Amino acid sequence: MTEAHAAPITQDVLTIPRREAAEGKRNLVGLTREQMRLALIEAGTPEKQAKMRLNQLWQWVYHWGVRDFDAMTNLAKPYRALLAEHFEIRLPEIVSRQVSEDGTRKYLVRINGGHEVETVYIPEEDRGTLCISSQVGCTLTCSFCHTGTQKLVRNLTAAEIVGQVMLARDDLGEWPEPGAPKDETRLLSNVVLMGMGEPLYNFDNVRDAMKITMDGEGLALSRRRITLSTSGVVPEIARTAEEIGCLLAVSFHATTDEVRDRLVPINKRWNIETLLAALKEYPRLSNSERITFEYVMLDGVNDSDADARRLVKLIEGIPAKVNLIPFNEWPGAPYKRSSNNRIRAFADIVHKAGYASPIRTPRGEDIMAACGQLKSATERARKSRAEIAREAGMGSGAA
Ligand code: SAH
Ligand code: SF4
Repeated sequence: MTEAHAAPITQDVLTIPRREAAEGKRNLVGLTREQMRLALIEAGTPEKQAKMRLNQLWQWVYHWGVRDFDAMTNLAKPYRALLAEHFEIRLPEIVSRQVSEDGTRKYLVRINGGHEVETVYIPEEDRGTLCISSQVGCTLTCSFCHTGTQKLVRNLTAAEIVGQVMLARDDLGEWPEPGAPKDETRLLSNVVLMGMGEPLYNFDNVRDAMKITMDGEGLALSRRRITLSTSGVVPEIARTAEEIGCLLAVSFHATTDEVRDRLVPINKRWNIETLLAALKEYPRLSNSERITFEYVMLDGVNDSDADARRLVKLIEGIPAKVNLIPFNEWPGAPYKRSSNNRIRAFADIVHKAGYASPIRTPRGEDIMAACGQLKSATERARKSRAEIAREAGMGSGAA
């Protein structure tokens, strides 16, 4: 196993402000209500009208999914022209879409600057979950995670984060039809921030994007249908409760600091005890039910009965559910998935202690869409080129 000693455990990427869009037009997507209101005033909307115009625009963009100002029929033509002159409604681009045998869809999404992230849509019987990314790559280097091996990292903008929700709705054909009866069945009913990146290292953009996603006049997903997964950025956990209020999942994965240091290197900065103290406060601060403890099952590493017993002891008193994730292997991964029997025995101990302990069914494995397998295609290609070079005895292998 590669030691993650060089793992940076502080945020070292910034979001480069992106306003260079087509002919200097400002993208309306990703602006908070207040930012959009001010932008409208700046563009010449009389201040007294700004609030009303904002509401109208907001509905067009986020409720109806309209991209063309000319289709905004409740706005006067000259005003539509003014908007078109100053603004655009732009989403990141879908570069490719793969559909798994089980219906999972994986989108490769190109953002500004040519970087790529992945977004995964997972249909289930009673819901449809969109797994979105918050960063290109990840500065953390959890040793079992494919994303953590990606070199390139940049924060996504709020537009690029909420844009993933919008482009999935485009692809699912799920924007409402004006005049048609309201359709209550939602293909895209849930959002999980479990794609590429550590969402709490990109807090402001994630918060703004989720506020837009939850806004009742637009995409209108309830805060209880959004789950943010963190590896344990302790100082941002209370802020998540207060400023976003969504459900929280935590990548726990180990029951001793010694093992967690190796699996989730951020543990060296904020250890299990510190993390648990922050988690204990979360349900009260966010007025939400329980926390999801994610636990990846790694053969012989963290999957013993003793681990299961330690786990239930650690989380005692926290309203929790333990989500057991069979390890998804990726080329060159230093771990193996625990056997089904082992996972079941572990789940049983957790369950008997009074916690729900579902075993996550890997989805979209045939298209490498499962948890922790996400990595941009360009990075994959780069890696394989380096591997080829190494195999051919050319240099030391930069990957
Ligand atoms: N960075 C955040 C969110 C993205 S990862 C976090 O770490 O929580 C989403 C979940 O997938 C996390 O629980 C992560 O630990 C888990 N994961 C990563 N690699 C995995 C793999 N190869 N197999 C199974 N789960 C994995
Ligand atoms: Fe980053 Fe999460 Fe992967 Fe860790 S598990 S490297 S925090 S994406």
